Amino acid sequence: MLQDTYRHKGLRKQLVNLIRSKGIHDSGVLRAMETVPRHLFMDSSFLEFAYEDKPFPIGSGQTISQPYTVAFQTELLEIKKGEKVLEVGTGSGYQTCVLMELGARVYTVERQKSLYMRTKLFLPTIGYNPKMLIYGDGYKGLPVQAPFDKIIVTAGAPFIPPELKHQLKPGGFLVIPVGSDNQVMKRIIRTGDSTFGEENHGTFRFVPLVEDKAFE
Ligand code: SAH
Repeated sequence: MLQDTYRHKGLRKQLVNLIRSKGIHDSGVLRAMETVPRHLFMDSSFLEFAYEDKPFPIGSGQTISQPYTVAFQTELLEIKKGEKVLEVGTGSGYQTCVLMELGARVYTVERQKSLYMRTKLFLPTIGYNPKMLIYGDGYKGLPVQAPFDKIIVTAGAPFIPPELKHQLKPGGFLVIPVGSDNQVMKRIIRTGDSTFGEENHGTFRFVPLVEDKAFE
């Protein structure tokens, strides 16, 4: 069932070449994406779409992010082995696994219960074990486990949740798409106790980061 064949590996190599041609140069990021079997994160009847550079529905109205977007956000994070990383929006768990391939210790939060349960059961079956996979509201971050070296938000945020900025270590990064219809990819850098730098890195389109709704 959970097979990763030469055909899959070949398709993945082509996808990585495409992502490289679109401007991703970090060799660690490209290697991680060549390793994680994206087809296993989607329903097997959609196999032919797994290695296209497109987002894809994963149920509960959510999507697995476009591979280029995953690569772009991951590159901006500049992950070093052993870093403690918070991901907001676990979804399929694909991005989670890319971060783990780079040696990150990943804490990930999902607010949709059905997705949370599915991904929590699924990841260990393909050999990935995040430090924590939590059902909750990512706007609040994880105050008990904070601070983090890096934080990534994988849904479009209407504003930058202040809690997330304050759960960064000094020198840490928050990579977050901000906006309602389209989003600007922002990288926030904690430069001091209460000082932050902010960079813009182009426009993207994400499903919305949902605030304080019933968690179903
Ligand atoms: N990283 C995922 C992308 C999933 S899409 C992947 O690789 O597949 C974004 C996810 O963010 C969705 O699963 C959605 O349910 C989740 N989400 C939306 N609002 C959230 C919130 N407030 N807290 C945590 N997760 C949230």
